[in-house]
Amino acid sequence: MAYLNENYLKLQAGYLFPEIGRRVKEFCDANPDVASDVIRCGVGDVTEPLPRAAVDAMHAAVEELGHRETFRGYGHEQGYEFLREKIVEHDYRSRGIEIAADEIFLSDGSKSDCGYILDVFGDQNTVAITDPVYPVYVDTNVMAGHTGPANANGAYDGIVYLPCTAENNFVPEPPAAHADLVYLCFPNNPTGAVATREDLARWVEYARQHNALLLYDAAYEAYISEPEIPHSIFEIPGAQECAIEFRSFSKTGGFTGVRCGFTVMPKSVRARTEDGRSLPLHPLWHRRWSTKANSVSYPVQRGAEALYSDAGKAQVRGLVEHYMGNARILRDAAIAAGLQVFGGANAPYIWVKTPGDLSSWAMFDRMLHELHVVITPGSGFGSCGEGYFRMSAFNSRENAIEVARRLQKLA
Ligand SMILES: *Cc1c(COP(=O)(O)O)cnc(C)c1O
Repeated sequence: MAYLNENYLKLQAGYLFPEIGRRVKEFCDANPDVASDVIRCGVGDVTEPLPRAAVDAMHAAVEELGHRETFRGYGHEQGYEFLREKIVEHDYRSRGIEIAADEIFLSDGSKSDCGYILDVFGDQNTVAITDPVYPVYVDTNVMAGHTGPANANGAYDGIVYLPCTAENNFVPEPPAAHADLVYLCFPNNPTGAVATREDLARWVEYARQHNALLLYDAAYEAYISEPEIPHSIFEIPGAQECAIEFRSFSKTGGFTGVRCGFTVMPKSVRARTEDGRSLPLHPLWHRRWSTKANSVSYPVQRGAEALYSDAGKAQVRGLVEHYMGNARILRDAAIAAGLQVFGGANAPYIWVKTPGDLSSWAMFDRMLHELHVVITPGSGFGSCGEGYFRMSAFNSRENAIEVARRLQKLA
C-alpha cells in the first residue's frame, strides 16, 4: 500500500468557513421568513464585476488564439514579458524601486505562491507567523512538514507565533527568538492593520541580524490611502537582500475567479546549505517554475496587463474606492454603535472588538440572530483573534448601508 503524507494528518479541521456555513444554514432553515434578509459580510471575496479594460483584453486575446496568424502555444515559464515589464514599471519603478523583469514570476494567484515557495526552502527552517493570520501560511508549512503536531489550542509545535494585539496596533515587533522565515502581510487580512516604514525597517533589521527572509504578502497594497505607508517591502533599504514579495490581481482587478498573481524574487536574496554555503534562491525558483509549471494562460495575462492601461488603472481605482467607501460606512457605523474598531482605513477589512467579554463565536451568533448579518469570528484566524470579529467591505453599497443601519441595534 502506498504511504500518504502524514503531515496532512496534523492539520486542524478546516473549521472556520464550514462552521459559518453550518450556522447560517441552521438559522435560515429555522427562520425561513427572514432567510432572504441575511447579509453576508464574512468572506473575503470581491463582489463587483471585472474592469471593462480586462474583459475587453481577454476577449481580444481569446480571439487571437483562434486564428493561425496570431495563435500562441506555450509562453514564457515566468509569464510574458509584456506583463512583467508593466509590473516593473507601474508597481515598482514608479515608487523608486529597481526590480528586474526576470525577478517577477507570474502565477495563478498568491495563495498558490504561498504553497509553491516552500519548494525552494529546506525543512530545517524555523518559521514565524503572526496571530491572527491568513491560514494559508500556517497550513502550507504544516503540509510541508515544517511543524510538529498542533496542541489543544490549535498552535503547532515549532512555529514562532507573533501575537498581534490592540497593544501593538496589530503590528508585531520582531521577537527575541530566532526565525529563518517570517511571514508578514500588510495591509493585513484579517485585522486591516498597516505597517509604517519604521515598523518594516525593524523587520528588515531583524532579518539582517538573523539571516532571516521576510515573506511579504502585499495583496491589499492598492487599498492603502495614507501616502506615507509603504506599498512594497522593497521600499525599505536592504529589503532586496532579505525579502520575497507576493502580489495578486485578486483584490485589485477583481481577479479572484480569473486567477493571476506574482512573486518578486530578487536575485540578491540568498539562503544557506547545510554545509554553510550561501546561494541565491532565484535560480532555484526559476528551476521550480520551468520544471513544474508553464505560468498563466495568455488571455489572463492580457487581462492583467490591461489593468495597467490608463483606463484599467482608473477602473481599478473605481473598484478600490467602491470597497473603501463601504469600509468607511461600516467603520463609522460600528463606531457609532459604541464598538471598538480597528482597520478599515487602508484595507477592506474592519476588525472589531466584541462588546463586553463576548467570545468571537457568541458575537457571530448574536449578529446572525439579532441583525441577520454574517461576520467572521476573529478566533478563526488564531487564538489572538478571540474576542474580535472581522467585517468585510467586499459587498454592494446597498448591503453595506443596510449592515450599517442594523449595527445601530447593538448600541
Ligand atoms: C485574498 C488574499 C490573497 C490573494 O490570493 P489569490 O490566491 O491571489 O486570490 C493573498 N493573501 C491574502 C492575505 C489574501 O487575503
